[in-house]
Amino acid sequence: MIKEIIVVEGKDDTVAIKRAVEADTIETNGSAIGEDVLRRIALANERRGIIIFTDPDHAGERIRKIVARHAPGCKHAFLPQEKALYKGDIGIENASPEAIRTALSELRTETADETGEVSFEDFAAALKKRKTRVKSLLLNQSFLRGVGNIYADEALFRAGIHPLALASRIRTDRARKLYDAIVAVLQEAIAAGGSSISDYVDAEGRAGFFQISHRVYQRTGEPCVTCGGVIRRTIVSQRSSHFCPTCQKR
Ligand SMILES: [Zn+2]
Repeated sequence: MIKEIIVVEGKDDTVAIKRAVEADTIETNGSAIGEDVLRRIALANERRGIIIFTDPDHAGERIRKIVARHAPGCKHAFLPQEKALYKGDIGIENASPEAIRTALSELRTETADETGEVSFEDFAAALKKRKTRVKSLLLNQSFLRGVGNIYADEALFRAGIHPLALASRIRTDRARKLYDAIVAVLQEAIAAGGSSISDYVDAEGRAGFFQISHRVYQRTGEPCVTCGGVIRRTIVSQRSSHFCPTCQKR
């Protein structure tokens, strides 16, 4: 039995959660969250604590932020987008019990100064521990919040790191370049008018990211802006990765 109450968007999500774990849920029922639901959530947070587990899309992130504002010290669970996809629809209700259990075992706690920012020291230490492809690690929302597919590709290009490079084998100087590139890309996205730094594509396939000038993303076959070589595409974690095979090293 999970001690905290899990906040989900709808009753289908509750069904999926209960298939995976023993837990109580509160449903926000869509993006227009009523005052009464927010009061119930605040009360639940005081009594048992809450875990926010909304869909990995734009609407879900919006709801997550609204709920988090009313629940100091709440916890967050994140489902990778590829685990939430079914026939073009994105939702917790599509996830397997195993994926839900994994998400609930990697919780993040909201801190008072939640900015989504991770220090370079923490970032470098986390890279060292992960024997996974750097691109899939960047897409893991429990690792770094706010870095979606587009920003990950652009940051890796700027840092000269191949998306298939093993995270644990990236040297500190290159980790520094990657960290700086991620910060720069996210800042550009915010400067371009985003109040959110999410670049999720919603269920209708609309890109919700804020326009930054793409150097590699969806430029497959076009010349690299740095070396003139051809930009290539590969699949990592079931998502397209765009990169320059000359400028980006494993
Ligand atoms: Zn190049």
